[in-house]
Amino acid sequence: MPEKDIEVSLDERRKEAESPRPKYAEVAFRGFLEATPPDTYVNVIDLKLSSPNNQNSRYYETPDIVLFCENVMCNGQRIFRCSGGSLSALGASWRREFLTYTCRNCNSRLVHFAIAFYVNKSEGAPTFLKLGQVPAFGDRTPARLITLIGPDREIFLQGRRAENRGLGIGAFAYYRRVVENQKNRIIWEIARVAKLLGSKPETEELFAAAVAETQFAKSVEMVKDVIPQALLISGRNPLTLLHSALSKGLHNPEMTDEHCLRLAQSIRIILAELAERASEALKNDRDIQNAVSVLMAVPNVPRLTTTRSERTEMPGLGAQTVDEELTPKEESAPTSATIRDLDPAQS
Ligand SMILES: [Zn+2]
Repeated sequence: MPEKDIEVSLDERRKEAESPRPKYAEVAFRGFLEATPPDTYVNVIDLKLSSPNNQNSRYYETPDIVLFCENVMCNGQRIFRCSGGSLSALGASWRREFLTYTCRNCNSRLVHFAIAFYVNKSEGAPTFLKLGQVPAFGDRTPARLITLIGPDREIFLQGRRAENRGLGIGAFAYYRRVVENQKNRIIWEIARVAKLLGSKPETEELFAAAVAETQFAKSVEMVKDVIPQALLISGRNPLTLLHSALSKGLHNPEMTDEHCLRLAQSIRIILAELAERASEALKNDRDIQNAVSVLMAVPNVPRLTTTRSERTEMPGLGAQTVDEELTPKEESAPTSATIRDLDPAQS
């Protein structure tokens, strides 16, 4: 492709890379495709000619890579193989290429890369730059996290894009907006878990007051002692963790781009973990309730086979509820000796 066709931004990057040439992070080609965000220069140290002895075929190898495949039959890390495009080894200037990779498992999901690279053997390892990637670079955002933040999905994803490009201040600002906007959704989700795990009415009132409170710090303080154990992350209250991450303003001199990036990553991870734990806690409770409903629909079986000691050990169920529903009332209790034998409390 003629030099004049190269976009202005690419031309600027070429000049920047050529004189004087800075030292970039050294990565394997596979690591470049899998883990290097767009707009980041790297030196690829393992580039190999696909047919080193064939003078007519001057291409570089495009090895298999491992990426997340979103196809329902895969839904996990899978091997992707280059199925389109190639890296020409001809010339010693900046080149642009498109590479397409296809999932080897389902053979249907594609990932497209737009790449610029510069090879000059006298200057050491070739320089590579990812111009873009579809689907977008970065770990996928868990569906449960998207559900937790609800209407701020797009702002969150903007933060994710900024984070993927290493734009710390931008990512932090986007995530901060999400947490502050969705403070009430987050607290309600925690309250929902607490209620299902048997919280007292006073606790429910505390959560309601925390939602009504407009200041995040005060809300966190109100409910800091009633967060369900199941939602603690490494033994720490997730709301306190989020609040401490957000406590410094962007004007603070400590909030460098690098520091903001670390904080942004932490905020995202805590939000994802909270969403995951809340969802698991709610699911477990639903499973228990469903199991109890099924057993309660079987005539006589539960009340004849459940002992008091077993009942008090059933997780997630208040003993009082079980006693009321499973234990025969005294005045209507059958007189059969069989029941007394099974239930030590009655003997
Ligand atoms: Zn697949």
